[in-house]
Amino acid sequence: MAGEPQADCLFCKIVAKEVPATVVRETATTLAFRDINPQAPTHVLVIPKSHHPDAGSLAAAEPQAAADVLREAGLVAVDEKIADSGYRIVFNTGSGAGQTVFHAHAHVLGGRGLNWPPG
Ligand code: 5GP
Ligand code: ZN
Repeated sequence: MAGEPQADCLFCKIVAKEVPATVVRETATTLAFRDINPQAPTHVLVIPKSHHPDAGSLAAAEPQAAADVLREAGLVAVDEKIADSGYRIVFNTGSGAGQTVFHAHAHVLGGRGLNWPPG
């Protein structure tokens, strides 16, 4: 069923605390933790606790959870003191766009200059 934990999903295992992560925020519906391979001084991943393969399918199935992820991304930026300097929220979608973990997640990136358009 959509949203149920997937046994072979790394981020479901982080939600279940079977794989450790440096958690910076947690709510009933979301978890925010530091990316293991940071691409900027602040690089935090915000995920829904429910399993959906990407941001679009999350928003279609559980719009409130998608809104929760966006709210938490903004609050991570405030906590990390990058809200004023500017930050980027990225949802890579599909392997051609660099998605490697197929559990929806927002990258929150900041603390350095961020070029536009991204590579
Ligand atoms: P994607 O490439 O799917 O947009 O993003 C997946 C992200 O998950 C990558 O930035 C990668 O560094 C991060 N990542 C992969 N494995 C782990 C892990 O075990 N722990 C943490 N904290 N991040 C991970
Ligand atoms: Zn998952």
